[in-house]
Amino acid sequence: MNKPIRIVVAGAKGRMGQEWIHYMEGEPTFQLVAAVDRTLEGVDVGNALGGSSQAPFYTSLAEAIEKERPDCLVDFTTPEAGYRNALTAMEHGIRAVIGTTGFSEEQLKHLEEEHAKHPAGMLIAPNFAIGAVLMMQFSKMAARFLPDVEIIEMHHNQKLDAPSGTARKTAAMIQEVRQAHQQGHPNELEHMAGVRGGDMEGIRIHSVRLPGLVAHQEVIFGGEGETLHIRHDSNSRRCFMPGVALGIRYVMEHPQYIYGLEHILGGEMA
Ligand code: NAP
Repeated sequence: MNKPIRIVVAGAKGRMGQEWIHYMEGEPTFQLVAAVDRTLEGVDVGNALGGSSQAPFYTSLAEAIEKERPDCLVDFTTPEAGYRNALTAMEHGIRAVIGTTGFSEEQLKHLEEEHAKHPAGMLIAPNFAIGAVLMMQFSKMAARFLPDVEIIEMHHNQKLDAPSGTARKTAAMIQEVRQAHQQGHPNELEHMAGVRGGDMEGIRIHSVRLPGLVAHQEVIFGGEGETLHIRHDSNSRRCFMPGVALGIRYVMEHPQYIYGLEHILGGEMA
């Protein structure tokens, strides 16, 4: 049997970090060798989070990499921390799978430029759910024929960034095939700030934040006498885990910088 892929997880105490750590416990091809958290140092992961993982917590990613020699970083933190962690992974020559969302265009551009100097596989994916990637692809397909579209993304009320990375990515994919134009009435008046949502080249994006939600998105297309709704629901964080596993296996074999899971799901998806 091949040796397991050695993983360090940043944001390990967070919702996504914990879900991934518990998922790995049932996957012998992965081995958690270190976890990173701002407050826990030296504590065993299994003791802190429950489950069977045996690996130490570090407060510094650089120290975790130097001491435990992981093959790949998995990051679910915040844009500020995830950006620093991606740079640290590159500086140390390890691969990275970054699930954190909310990076600015400048941060993404800089990470891609830095990657050219440190070419170890890096995947940044705003959504690891396979169904969500299909929802984005189907939306791009529909926008060729129905160019008037609005996006409603709905998340739990602890989410920090808005709009979601998935909504931004969906709009960007639609823009590849849709000629930029304003939608709605040209004399439309907003009697309440923001009521028509954010505006990405005329595509309106609406962000809903409520307890009880996980991650959901509906893309609504309007044409003459018809509407088309394309909807995806992540009902549990478990739905992201097979995509993370796929991403790690991919970056272990491919040194490229990749933004978006769709690029590694097979030729027909890209
Ligand atoms: P969360 O529960 O708030 O966890 C975030 C973790 O990051 C916490 O452990 C937090 O530690 C840590 N953190 C925050 N600021 C930090 C800093 N400055 N330095 C180091 N660590 C820091 O959030 P989550 O729900 O797991 O989501 C994490 C990220 O993944 C978000 O960007 C979210 O949008 C994204 N996400 C991506 C996908 C996908 O498919 N790509 C799916 C779901 C979520 P403290 O407890 O110390 O604050």
